[in-house]
Amino acid sequence: MKSYNKTMFQFFEWYMPSDCNLWNTVTQMAPELKKKGITSVWLPPAQKSAGGINDTGYGAYDLYDLGEFNQKGTIRTKYGSKEEYLKAIKALQAEGIKVLADIVLNHRMGADETEDIISYKVDYDDRNKTIGDYRTIKAWTKYSFEGRKNKYSDFKLDWSHFTACDYDNNENEHGIFRFYGKQFSKEVDLERGNFDYLMGCDVDFNNLDVVNDLNAWGKWFYEQTHVDGFRLDAVKHIRFSFYKNWLKDLSHEFNKNFYTVGEYFSYNIDSLLYYLDYNKQITSLFDVPLHIKFKDASQSGGNYDMRYLFQNTLVDRRPSKAVTFVDNHDTEPGQALESWVECWFKPLAYAMIMFRKEGIPCIFYGDYYGVPEKNMPPMKDLLDTFLKVRKYMAYGKERTYFDDPNIIGWTREGDYYHQDSGLAVVLSDGPGGGKQMNVGKELAGSLLYDCTGNCKEPIYVDQDGNGIFYCDGGSVSVWVKKENMYNL
Ligand code: CA
Repeated sequence: MKSYNKTMFQFFEWYMPSDCNLWNTVTQMAPELKKKGITSVWLPPAQKSAGGINDTGYGAYDLYDLGEFNQKGTIRTKYGSKEEYLKAIKALQAEGIKVLADIVLNHRMGADETEDIISYKVDYDDRNKTIGDYRTIKAWTKYSFEGRKNKYSDFKLDWSHFTACDYDNNENEHGIFRFYGKQFSKEVDLERGNFDYLMGCDVDFNNLDVVNDLNAWGKWFYEQTHVDGFRLDAVKHIRFSFYKNWLKDLSHEFNKNFYTVGEYFSYNIDSLLYYLDYNKQITSLFDVPLHIKFKDASQSGGNYDMRYLFQNTLVDRRPSKAVTFVDNHDTEPGQALESWVECWFKPLAYAMIMFRKEGIPCIFYGDYYGVPEKNMPPMKDLLDTFLKVRKYMAYGKERTYFDDPNIIGWTREGDYYHQDSGLAVVLSDGPGGGKQMNVGKELAGSLLYDCTGNCKEPIYVDQDGNGIFYCDGGSVSVWVKKENMYNL
């Protein structure tokens, strides 16, 4: 049966202007995204955040305020009003595009009042260690959500719902302050001894009231939005079993499977596999190890051993659970997880996520449209071509030629359902050159053209399906049967 490859689009980047009206843009863009072959869109967090209209959405303040109440100096969020959010979701779904909501539950920020709390200061690099004796701090931990006036929920948060915070108002001191009688969860990433604490007021997932509220909130959120799935923020900092139960509960309540991808930002493949196994594969994860390899390769001046690029990546070890990506809002220059893939390498990286058989690739808004704030150019033209190639040609058996430290390649032999499908990719982080590869029977005896335009002459594939495919130095060429991609 004819079906098309899946492709995700992360439809925002960090430095978009506040008041960017993103929800309205999404509504307008929905038909075009569909045409490009986008099958799911990851939208940024919709809830009211500490920074009000300037907040990207990761400083979660009130989960029940999706741009509806006058809180944090604004009714709408950076991206628009709740009404506009719901309209954007509907517009995407009307085009058959699945919508993933970004869910930020690890921490809260922007509390309304302070409380006096007995706390231990914790060593930043070893969270199991306390520094000095306990003392009373004045902390911003009370969330009263006055602007919402108990609509949807009357649950309020105070220090008892958190494990720790990052600021003592008495001493004007920053640090990690764990509250007396509170323990960090043991079911978290073990970097820095225990990585439960990330930022702000760290939500205590061992507190039953918290868990009950978040379960109720999940149901409320789905009833309001009818999203198709979730992108889960900061899962390595949240008690590992929490989301398994949360998702199971939600699926059971609405008799629906939610496609879910977690952000477990670790280069360590074993940590990712542990999380997936622990949660019985209920979520997918972003392939952070692959992203880091892209970054390293892009900074190695042509000396990266390309044969091992996929080694110990998620798409290699657990392909059915991998969402592959090149960069995202957190890896942008100046951000918390800055690890930007250099521009010259990005076409190679996108070829590696879009034309391989395994993994669901996620296109980043900041790559597609550029990041004006950081002088990053848009890759729209190339990515539009790549999207067409992915949608129409990246099918069939894969033959891999990862046999040279510089020039690697692979072919897809195409399939019966997609006319003229099949392709050959050659790329090099060092000098250019050629590689003999076999493209299979379907493309035997035909001319193939480099859709990137880097190589001008077509290549003849012989009757056995063999051809010598070229790429330039530090470049990628993608060989397909269509000479002209415009009319696709
Ligand atoms: Ca946490």
